[in-house]
Amino acid sequence: MAKTIDLDRLYTDALVWDAHAGVFPSPEVDLNLLDDWRRAGADYVSINVGFDVMDWQDTLATLAAYRRWVVDRPGDFVLVNRVEDIEDARGEGRFALSFDIEGMNALNGDLNMVSLYHALGVRQMLFAYNLNNAAAGGCHDDDGGLTEFGRAVVREMNRVGMIVDCTHAGYRTTLDIMHESNRPVVFSHSNPAAIWQHQRNIGDEQIRACAATGGVIGLNGMGIFLGDNVIDTDTMQRHVSYVSDLVGPEHVGIGFDYSPAIDVDIGVILRSRPDYWPAGQQYDTRGIKHAGPALLPELIAKLAAAGFGESELRGFLGENFKRVAASAWQ
Ligand SMILES: [Zn+2]
Repeated sequence: MAKTIDLDRLYTDALVWDAHAGVFPSPEVDLNLLDDWRRAGADYVSINVGFDVMDWQDTLATLAAYRRWVVDRPGDFVLVNRVEDIEDARGEGRFALSFDIEGMNALNGDLNMVSLYHALGVRQMLFAYNLNNAAAGGCHDDDGGLTEFGRAVVREMNRVGMIVDCTHAGYRTTLDIMHESNRPVVFSHSNPAAIWQHQRNIGDEQIRACAATGGVIGLNGMGIFLGDNVIDTDTMQRHVSYVSDLVGPEHVGIGFDYSPAIDVDIGVILRSRPDYWPAGQQYDTRGIKHAGPALLPELIAKLAAAGFGESELRGFLGENFKRVAASAWQ
């Protein structure tokens, strides 16, 4: 008979790592929204300070504002430098975070910007945001693969210690990135296209290539990437189980892409830039739903019922992404 797992205890003492928040970055954002993660029992989140839709100067301004907010609250928050900082923060009851950037327009074509961003707390970068840029091809564009500049950025990210992230890039570019990187590579917030066909979702070959680097695929909680705008935990369980069955449970994690501060319909923003969020990709859906960390206890119960064991659940909740970070952030 299978051993019964005490899921309440497991969730309480497991490391909970959300590899990407989907807050629209701006210096005006009130980071008290991080309380949503803390209340849900999460220990760490990577929050984006920019994406290709913004000018690079606005990314720096957002980074400056977020950074100041975090370092002004040392009793409650830790800006992570190394993986050990996250375990230390847990022990002290503090919440850990670092920053990511979605797309390389933020580099302004200058390789020197990688180490600057690293010094300021960015620990994960994506190459493109849906459309092509000077480094890479996007998932909603005619992807020509990683450029010479993009290859140099991969090597520089490996060197300075940032997680190389393939989410939002095009198919060919993602394979180029994984070939170039000498560290594990992630898809921080991408779902399998085999479960829901969408240009933002990824194919089996990409999932296998990611796993072969030692990387992790993070479950995205947006209803239009999970299905026909659904966010129930049965649907999420199917996405997680699919990736786990394909490449192993040590290669799945969480990247909910969640934003708590949705006082406007997220669709209003998406419809405002049909170049970055093109027609025919559900972005015009009214009332796009969004699963967040509060659903995690219910989700792990579904995963346990689907056959995930205790160490596999701990891997999914955080240990898998922690393993990647421990390698990338050296
Ligand atoms: Zn994203």
